[in-house]
Amino acid sequence: MSPEFAPYPFISTHYPATPRDAVAGGEPKRHPVVVVGGGPVGYCTALGLASHGVPVVLVEADDSVCFGSRAICISRRSLEIVERLGALDGFLRDGLPWTGGRSFYRDTEVLHFTMPTDANQKLPPMVNLAQYSIEQHLLDAAQARPDLIDIRWQTRVTGIERRADGARLTLAAADGEYPLLADWVVAADGGRSFLREALGLQLKGTSYEGRYVIVDILLDSQRPTERLAYFDPPCNPGSTVLVHKQPNNVWRIDYQLRDGEDPDAAILPENVMPRVASLLEMMGERGEWKPIWMGIYKANALTLESYRHGRVLFAGDAAHLVPIFGVRGANSGIDDADNLAWKLAFVVNGLASDRLLDTYSEERVAAAHENLSYGTKSTEFMAPPSFAFDLMRKAVLSLAVRHPEVRSLINPRQTSAISYLGTRLNAAPRQGAAFAAGPAPGAVLAECPVTLGDGGESREGHVTDLLGPRFTLLYFCDGDVPAALVDLERKLGGDGVPLKTVALSRTAAPNGDAARARDHTGRLFPMYDAVSGTSYLVRPDGHVLGRWKHTDAAAVAAAIHHALRP
Ligand SMILES: Cc1cc2nc3c(=O)[nH]c(=O)nc-3n(C[C@H](O)[C@H](O)[C@H](O)COP(=O)(O)OP(=O)(O)OC[C@H]3O[C@@H](n4cnc5c(N)ncnc54)[C@H](O)[C@@H]3O)c2cc1C
Repeated sequence: MSPEFAPYPFISTHYPATPRDAVAGGEPKRHPVVVVGGGPVGYCTALGLASHGVPVVLVEADDSVCFGSRAICISRRSLEIVERLGALDGFLRDGLPWTGGRSFYRDTEVLHFTMPTDANQKLPPMVNLAQYSIEQHLLDAAQARPDLIDIRWQTRVTGIERRADGARLTLAAADGEYPLLADWVVAADGGRSFLREALGLQLKGTSYEGRYVIVDILLDSQRPTERLAYFDPPCNPGSTVLVHKQPNNVWRIDYQLRDGEDPDAAILPENVMPRVASLLEMMGERGEWKPIWMGIYKANALTLESYRHGRVLFAGDAAHLVPIFGVRGANSGIDDADNLAWKLAFVVNGLASDRLLDTYSEERVAAAHENLSYGTKSTEFMAPPSFAFDLMRKAVLSLAVRHPEVRSLINPRQTSAISYLGTRLNAAPRQGAAFAAGPAPGAVLAECPVTLGDGGESREGHVTDLLGPRFTLLYFCDGDVPAALVDLERKLGGDGVPLKTVALSRTAAPNGDAARARDHTGRLFPMYDAVSGTSYLVRPDGHVLGRWKHTDAAAVAAAIHHALRP
């Protein structure tokens, strides 16, 4: 059978090759930061650096955003980051929000899960959006900053010579090779990273044998957006099948190959089409459908042991490969970018010691281990790697039919925000002033609606709207911000260190003052265990750096100084 493929649902722009840079007197121009790779992680890093005023050259081997079946599920935490980078509107306009899913064992539903969501949230726990759209929205935001982001299309990094003060890259463009000098290089060049190879670095961890066929089809269906998992389904006995809805009537189907199946033969249309047809029949989908894309996937749970190698910093798939189950690949890479961008910007701008970049590696390697441990558990449940795992899975699935208490074992452990509870950047808690609630140092902010004083007018918003490319001090009070905190903001600002104090009040309306917000629901103060005089100091990436029940400007100053010279 030779199926007719549906037209590819996304028309990507093909960008012309960027001509070679002019090399003055044989010495190439020097750039503060070169980001290698225009995937989600490269764009987020470039946008993050630009938000701090740092100019970036972004080098991309291809001539367009990606195509084919890659990431589709983008988490609330990634959306929060993308909003700070100025690209959220397209994600919300085009993406399909969802909150949960269902799992079936043979023909019985054994789990109906929901991801955490409540009236305090601004963003959905997840949106489905194909990676080519994800990249396009990020690229659009990057192209809106031509003053700071210089994208070199059809330009491949083919060499790197590391130096004490940076690196000399060799770039292969359509019209020949040329050198580029960089003070710092961000390696966001994906799973097959050239830079990782060139530096002789190796990913460590586990590669799984199990293979999955990934098929995107066009199907007109009114089903809601949710994650569907079928274990040992009647349409494909012995296999595990996942189904996700994407925008524009595109559906993602992932199914596990049986032991011994030839992966090359498995993705031939004559083998894929009947399996998809029988799945759709089992689901009761009777509409016309056409394939768009077919591919094969093999799970890896691998990471570098350090993401900093002198002046080369690794991020995203170049640094770690996370199984797709639990959707942590692009999501964790976006988190890498957010963590790295402010630290690198502060170093480039001369505001922090380069030891701050060691904490990028420490925090994100620890995050990768956490992501890998969840991803590994999910992978072993989706595709049991041994007879013993298979036996355990069958037992859990059979019991789950009648015993709801074991259903949590089937939970797909979808990605959620990571906390850097153990990072050495965190300000030590003060004795005798314990908090009974609220985000601890290292955690991200707990979301809550607030009334914002936004320029001339007040409007309803959320506590994460108060963040920006700077340190933010959320100061809970029923009066004015103390003079010592006002002075601290001024003094740090004079030294170039951006800090903004926002007064959060239970009563006073912000009256358009952007440095004020109101807890109009009355939920924020108890959620943060705050009294008048409490403060939370937040890093530019939205993680809490320190908190004080009764704030002392000297302690806030010390926490910021420590973070910049750890
Ligand atoms: C089937 C599938 C489903 C997935 N689903 C999800 C999901 O739902 N959620 C999720 O979070 N993740 C998911 N992922 C993972 C996600 O796709 C990756 O984690 C993500 O693409 C990593 O982004 P990146 O920017 O690090 O690398 P990439 O997206 O690989 O981008 C790297 C870029 O670098 C360029 N490049 C490479 N070498 C060079 C060079 N030498 N010079 C210049 N440029 C170069 C490449 O052309 C490319 O554009 C999925 C992956 C697959 C395969």
